Amino acid sequence: MLSVPVPKKTLTASPYVAGRPIDDVARELGLDPATIVKLASNENPLGMSPHAAKAIIGLDLARYPDSNAHHLKAVIAAHHNVDPSWVTVGTGSENLIHLVAQAFLEPGKNGVSSQYSFIVFQQAVHNVGATNVVVPADNLGNDLNGLLSAITEDTVALYIANPNNPTGTFVTPVAMASFLEQVPSRVIVLIDEAYNEFLPEEHRFDGTQYVQMFPNVVVTRTFSKVYGLAGLRVGYAVSHPQVADYMNRLRFVFNVNEVAQAAAAAALTDYDFIKQSYELNLTELARVQGALGAMGVSFVPSMANFVMFNVPEALAVNDRLLRLGVIIRPMAMYGLTDWLRVSIGLPEENTRFLEALTTALQPV
Ligand code: PMP
Repeated sequence: MLSVPVPKKTLTASPYVAGRPIDDVARELGLDPATIVKLASNENPLGMSPHAAKAIIGLDLARYPDSNAHHLKAVIAAHHNVDPSWVTVGTGSENLIHLVAQAFLEPGKNGVSSQYSFIVFQQAVHNVGATNVVVPADNLGNDLNGLLSAITEDTVALYIANPNNPTGTFVTPVAMASFLEQVPSRVIVLIDEAYNEFLPEEHRFDGTQYVQMFPNVVVTRTFSKVYGLAGLRVGYAVSHPQVADYMNRLRFVFNVNEVAQAAAAAALTDYDFIKQSYELNLTELARVQGALGAMGVSFVPSMANFVMFNVPEALAVNDRLLRLGVIIRPMAMYGLTDWLRVSIGLPEENTRFLEALTTALQPV
């Protein structure tokens, strides 16, 4: 028997339930992995950026990477037109979400986020022994006034994903600017823009402009989505240099490895690939949403590369889809027990999903 004392934060921690890997499902259900379609983790169905693939050939991995990621930060800084001192890199943007909590929160303080916003926000707050204040969602999206009213003297951080995962909802730049003006400057606001690059042209904007206006704002981005590098684990934050300095004090020295640094730096300017990925998503998201609507399935109109839809007995439907070789994501972890989320894939993968869903929704 283990006799080590375990703190409450560990005993009450709930682990993240990730999308199931293809091999895992194949093993369990006796399916051929080659026939399985995974649309569960909002990855890029076109694969990785070709520029990134080229950039990692022949790297000498006997040496430690640059702990300050000089080249990668310079490329990111140029991309956002800021000084490199405004950039912090992380092992995926998940790392930055945790670093903000580690740097600014402590027991007795709280972090505010919306119901149905990215679950890692709550984990980050919980893991440092601080308190989560979860504000009821408005129509499955962020209730900005609700978030403002939830701020107390003990609030240190506030988290918003824009677009939000898993709902795909979006806070407009105008609403965001007015919201940020009302947040007390002593509260760190993390705006998670993991899906920013998928925003349709008319909604396109770079949240890092807020960082220039509000030194308490941190914007995070990831290489896991449009750049196709989820397996490498690399993301970044743009923030006031003082905020960056606090996060840097706590991060692992080599939190972004050599391969990830080289690939990310090359992917950021792989404009053809980014455009191709964006266009594929735009067309296929519209097709999938249209088909769901035609099937009478209600969904939340999405601004990202996935769509959340409502079906009775969602877990049973998810199970039937798995048996048909289509992996998508149940939303029970969010308390959305009647909802499933599907990532937008290649045209043929989306067709497979829609056909399988039609079958899975037949009365048994
Ligand atoms: N933020 C949001 C809103 C996400 O959906 C995800 C990935 N599911 C992440 C952050 C984390 O991505 P990564 O750690 O791969 O950068």
